Amino acid sequence: MNHRHRWKLALLVVLCMFSASHAKADGETPPGRDAKQQVDEAYTAKMKKYTTEPFFTSPLVNYLPASKNVPTPEAVLGDVAGAPGILPYAKDVYKYMRMLEKASPRVKVFSIGTTEEGREMIAVAVSSEENLKKLAENRAKLAKLADPRTLQLNDGEADKIVAQAVPVYYITGTIHSPETGAPTALMELAYRLAVDESAYVKEIRDGMVTLITPVVEVDGRDRMVDIYKWHLAHPKDFYPPLVYWGKYVAHDNNRDAMGVTLKLTENVLNTYVQWNAQVLHDLHESVPYLYDNTIGDGPYNAWIDPILADEWQMIGTRNVADMTKFGMPGVFAHGNFDTWSPGYLMFIAAMHNGISRLYETFGNGGADTLERTLDPDEYARTWYKQNPPLPKVMWSQRDNNNYEETGLLVSLHYFNENKRLFLKNFYLKAKRSVQKPAEEGPAAYVLPADETRPTLQLELLKVLEKQHVEISRVTSAVTVALPVRKEKKPGKAEEKKETKKDEKPQPTTQTFATGSFVIRMDQPYSRIADALLDHQYWSPEDPQRTPYDDTGWTFGELYGVQVARVSDAKILQAPMEPVKGLRVPGGVKGEGTIFAIENHAEPALASLRYRLQAADLQAAEEGFESGGNKFAAGTILVKNADRAQLDAASKELGLQAIALTAVPSVKSHPLRAARILLLHTWLSTQTEGWWRLALDKLQIPYDYASTQTIAKTADLREKYDVILFPPVGWGGSLNNVINGTPTSWGNPLPWQQTPETPNLVEKNDATDDMRPGLGWDGVAKLQKFVNDGGVLLTVMDTAQFASGIGLTGGVSVSNSEKMKIVGSVVGARVVDGASPIAYGYSEKVSAYCDNGPIFSLSSISGGRRRRRLGPELGARPTGRGTKDDPDFTVGRAGVEAPEEPESEIWENPPVTDEQRHNNPRVIPPAMRARVVLRYAESKDLLISGLVEGGNEIAQHPAVVDAPFGKGHVVMFSINPVWRGETQGTYSLVLNTIMNYDNLNAGRKDDAK
Ligand SMILES: [Zn+2]
Repeated sequence: MNHRHRWKLALLVVLCMFSASHAKADGETPPGRDAKQQVDEAYTAKMKKYTTEPFFTSPLVNYLPASKNVPTPEAVLGDVAGAPGILPYAKDVYKYMRMLEKASPRVKVFSIGTTEEGREMIAVAVSSEENLKKLAENRAKLAKLADPRTLQLNDGEADKIVAQAVPVYYITGTIHSPETGAPTALMELAYRLAVDESAYVKEIRDGMVTLITPVVEVDGRDRMVDIYKWHLAHPKDFYPPLVYWGKYVAHDNNRDAMGVTLKLTENVLNTYVQWNAQVLHDLHESVPYLYDNTIGDGPYNAWIDPILADEWQMIGTRNVADMTKFGMPGVFAHGNFDTWSPGYLMFIAAMHNGISRLYETFGNGGADTLERTLDPDEYARTWYKQNPPLPKVMWSQRDNNNYEETGLLVSLHYFNENKRLFLKNFYLKAKRSVQKPAEEGPAAYVLPADETRPTLQLELLKVLEKQHVEISRVTSAVTVALPVRKEKKPGKAEEKKETKKDEKPQPTTQTFATGSFVIRMDQPYSRIADALLDHQYWSPEDPQRTPYDDTGWTFGELYGVQVARVSDAKILQAPMEPVKGLRVPGGVKGEGTIFAIENHAEPALASLRYRLQAADLQAAEEGFESGGNKFAAGTILVKNADRAQLDAASKELGLQAIALTAVPSVKSHPLRAARILLLHTWLSTQTEGWWRLALDKLQIPYDYASTQTIAKTADLREKYDVILFPPVGWGGSLNNVINGTPTSWGNPLPWQQTPETPNLVEKNDATDDMRPGLGWDGVAKLQKFVNDGGVLLTVMDTAQFASGIGLTGGVSVSNSEKMKIVGSVVGARVVDGASPIAYGYSEKVSAYCDNGPIFSLSSISGGRRRRRLGPELGARPTGRGTKDDPDFTVGRAGVEAPEEPESEIWENPPVTDEQRHNNPRVIPPAMRARVVLRYAESKDLLISGLVEGGNEIAQHPAVVDAPFGKGHVVMFSINPVWRGETQGTYSLVLNTIMNYDNLNAGRKDDAK
């Protein structure tokens, strides 16, 4: 990789010391036990026994101090932390933390909320008795640093608080359920921090508050323990992979720090902000032996304060140095984790003026001691991994706990030694957030009052509210200046071009109406709002060739609502008031018995459909006028509704129903509360989980079943109207979806609620063997379902699957060759606004795309569109004259060739007379695929993130409605439902559902 020299500079960062209240200077306190304090010999002997190499421990954790009254983790575990075969449930971890709280005045346990499945989450504070007594007082001090407006941005006042305040270091464990070591490591760490009288630990205890959430993904932890117990009971068998973690998603629970759709994110975010913590340190296990990815690699998130980048370097390099001095191999920083996306849990701190940290330690996915062989790139010595891990070792959960605890203790100690610096930085980062309008800008973001999608605007504002961002509303109209666009210096080729005469002069001001929402950038948490609402640009030339996660996320684009980035500071002077209690007014207006609701692709419309089961809802297929109001195609007409009921429901949903005096004479068709099946595989439930979450939040009912179940369902069409088959994600190949996991060998992999595994299923799905896939019976059932008039909605890999089993006629699906669109926001265009799938959308749509796949159309069944590669067709052959002259044949008069039929990339290619001749494969016009949405032209493809080689997918279909038999297969190349971030494209799915039996409405077919 290039540009590594950057890091050499970074390593030279001078550690600036602040020594106001410290007797000992940095690094002077020796790590290790206090000779005067007794050691728990039995516990210590077991720790030693379970540590597989003498160098897999440190002077900080190779002993356990004894206590007369405080119980060790053995009291709950029956053995030491990290002992083989022992993995405690969350409730056992909590039980121990509460025993500590009872036995020691240095421990306090707080309940911080519950999970989707109702399990408790906790935070454990460990500090000196004095510090814990003054928690409220200390919190008030930290709150002033967190909001420098309370100090009038006065550095002198801040310094006084910095000199006295006790910082808070927040540690979170096992967000990723198969990464199992953290809870026992954190139990023992809490014990050590409460009991150990060594100078090293005492300094931490007296100097700061350590806050611990030992289990972040509580639902997933309990499932993981179930699985592990099953494995212990069936030691010779393969054990089931952890296909469900939390109720909705698996590893993506660590990608929710932008959208805050999961309870665990919300609970940790609230705890972090309410405690005004300085650090959020999240523990993971997927890299040997301890990868402190706090520093990570470039590109860094562009909205973080450079002060934070410096803090990452300080803590990360020192962490590695300290552990290396202990002789522990395999401890490193930098590595290949880029620090771009703010979606990770730890990034809550980075975006709220704190310090984000993350460890990858090494784990065995359970508490077995195993021989582990590493890949060459894992044990290779590199510039940032001078003492790499060993190629092959025995590894135990105790080893993991030794590394985690040692890393945390050296971090806590270093942080405490430099706490005045870090507290001052905490204040400075908040102050610089408040000064954003005067410094780098912008001054504010404005969400205009005239938004046509108020309920989506509300959803976006709710995200900001969850992020603790202050929202205001102007009390009168305000006009701001727009930034002057810098004229690009014309290049040589452009120099001769005349300026277009018909070019309209660009507006220079913008006016926002009364009631427009203002997100002021002169507030402490301006940084997160800026990061979510701004645009992202990842250069294709970036030295980082493998982005770790999504590269673009611009929330205004993905929510399909207007967001104006305002740099004119005048906006801040406009009269405005803080918004309390976000809501959108709705309800019924006017007199009449038939009601019209405008359709602007708001998901709330589908909620209304399902809520008013008895009412007759119709979609107008064309625009119409009534009572002086104009309504566009897609407008919803409500008949036979109980007015009071409609009024209540529309008020609650923020929808406006307008009573009409007469039934408008417009062609319409019923909108139905279709019976939905959400289909999943037993390969992975990760990505479809976001779909369940979206439907649940909209209160749209659906059945949930696996490919195994539908293979055994006699008549799918009898039970369902629409089958949603969201992306499978990893492993979702045609082969895997049909064949599942091999069953010719091995043992069944049950996913069942049993006394042995009491947490596995909850309200999710179950099977006595996860291995079988859809099978050929299932393929036949799906085919019959569509043939009988059902709608199968497929996305990315499942669209590829539908094409693979021959359900998509003229649509072929391929993967890109060189293109790189890594979780980006791209431009799309509505091709056929008459399609009910497009109701409510205007021409330009922003969508989430992760490398396609690429759809191509053919009017010949099983055919493939010719790729537009190589020289243009119809170019003249070698011959007389110039390039533009016609060719001629000697001795014969010239004959004009018939014109080649032309079509756009997203269209069905016209069938030539030659192709039509005696060809039973030509698809009749009415059965050809109908393109609803296509990708934009290459130059307009990138909205946010990375688009490289986008011409491969530019203009290709993005959403296609492919008729099959009496039904339809609707195919998405974009992912319309992703991480709670893409609400602007939800309605493409919801429209498909509600119009499932009228998808052909407005269809215009080719003549032949
Ligand atoms: Zn992880």
